Amino acid sequence: MNTQSSPSQWLVGTSTSMLGDFTRHDLERVKDAGLQCVELTMFGGGADPSQASGMEILAARAALIADCGLRLWSVHLPFGRQWDIASPDSELAAKAVASAKRFLQIGAGWGAEVAVVHPSTEPIADEERAGYLERSKRALAELDRAAHSYGIKLAVECLPRTCLCNTSDEMLEVLDTLDGAGACFDANHALQESSEEFASRLSGRTMTVHMSDYDGVDERHWLPGEGTIRWSAVIDALARGGYSGPFMFEVGSKKGDEVRTPYDLMECWKRLLAEYTAERGA
Ligand SMILES: [Zn+2]
Repeated sequence: MNTQSSPSQWLVGTSTSMLGDFTRHDLERVKDAGLQCVELTMFGGGADPSQASGMEILAARAALIADCGLRLWSVHLPFGRQWDIASPDSELAAKAVASAKRFLQIGAGWGAEVAVVHPSTEPIADEERAGYLERSKRALAELDRAAHSYGIKLAVECLPRTCLCNTSDEMLEVLDTLDGAGACFDANHALQESSEEFASRLSGRTMTVHMSDYDGVDERHWLPGEGTIRWSAVIDALARGGYSGPFMFEVGSKKGDEVRTPYDLMECWKRLLAEYTAERGA
């Protein structure tokens, strides 16, 4: 049994993906808004992780996060075709796994506690799925062992559309083959079951989260409350499963012309927590 956690105790954080090519000033606003931790995306915002110069940019970002008094909770490993650990192209897959191991070691060196990895890219045709699944499980087992040796936890992200781990069944099937790894639950990636069902089926296995809202049709990365997710139910499922935080936002930098700020995130979390407390008590 998992001990129920108390959401009011959870730390709150944001993915740096919302911040683009961020500066000290951006991080100071994150801190000032009351967020305590961040997930550093190891790509984007002008940083190409396949280049030494890109890795220097990322290292500088990690240092800046610490310098601003924020906790580097997690790193998000690069994803996409070039980084596909389950690719049918065995040479590409081997390179992707080797790179992922290096990123795990680097992320651990920066002090991150968790590393988020995508189990595949897309599209995956039905007849290719079994092969993808086998290759991904093998690669993840290797990364799980590497993560353990570096002192960082591996979190496999649930993904939308035809990607691997697009259902809680498949997510659990993958996790059952791994020793130390857990799940990164992305609330707006559940397309074949409700977000709260998905969260509740991962009970006890969730190591970190990506929180944003959607329309149930595709991922949207909206601010929680702007879509169809029943947030109190999702928070309840996580708390019952023993998830002890953080509530890590992964919201898009803009919706239409509206630019998102860390202050919007904190206000949003306070509202979600008040609703949860009113509905579920404590
Ligand atoms: Zn995500």
